[in-house]
Amino acid sequence: MPSQHPTILVVEDERAIVELVSFALKAAGWEVVAVHNTAGAWQYLQQQRPQVMLLDWMLPDQSGLRLLSRIRSDRQFNSLPVIMLTAKSMEEDKVAGLDHGADDYITKPFSPRELVARIKALIRRKEPEHAELEMRLGPVALDPVSFRVKVDDQPIEMGHAEFKLLKFLIAHPERVFSRSQLLDKVWGDHAVLEERTVDVHVLRLRKALGNADYLVKTVRSVGYMLSEK
Ligand code: CA
Repeated sequence: MPSQHPTILVVEDERAIVELVSFALKAAGWEVVAVHNTAGAWQYLQQQRPQVMLLDWMLPDQSGLRLLSRIRSDRQFNSLPVIMLTAKSMEEDKVAGLDHGADDYITKPFSPRELVARIKALIRRKEPEHAELEMRLGPVALDPVSFRVKVDDQPIEMGHAEFKLLKFLIAHPERVFSRSQLLDKVWGDHAVLEERTVDVHVLRLRKALGNADYLVKTVRSVGYMLSEK
């Protein structure tokens, strides 16, 4: 099971702020990658997917707002959680940031504690499957921190792919997802997997769930869902 912590991408050219933010985020359990301009951020995003991006407004090559527009118009990144980090506190700037697709906005100077709280709130809002709370459906309990799954309070074993699939489905119960949606949401856009792969993982997931296998429903000619009904 992976032990890797989720990463926060910090796009900020002021060294003191980078240090302050990095320290606070690492203390809260995240990996931090800092880049100093929008080109660096774009380059990073081609390789990796951060859990959240903190984006400064005023950057040396172009404005954070320009990068934000580029990200939001790209299907691959349009759901990436972004918090604008800026010295601007004018109401119209705030509106401009949110108009361009920022999920939240934090004005400098801010306390590291407030920043961490805002990031956690954003993750809960955008990606319930990444919240650090145990998720339950019927007899199944999944702990996203320890990567443990239990059925009727008994620990069960499953592969990493099945764990990711279950984590996604349990965060969105009673909703049908097509195979291509699951590929996209569970394995990411970069995955070079065929839709049939989803069927294989669903099969393995059902097997791993044992008595709770009935929760994974096949919805004919649509896809799969997790449901107690
Ligand atoms: Ca700046």
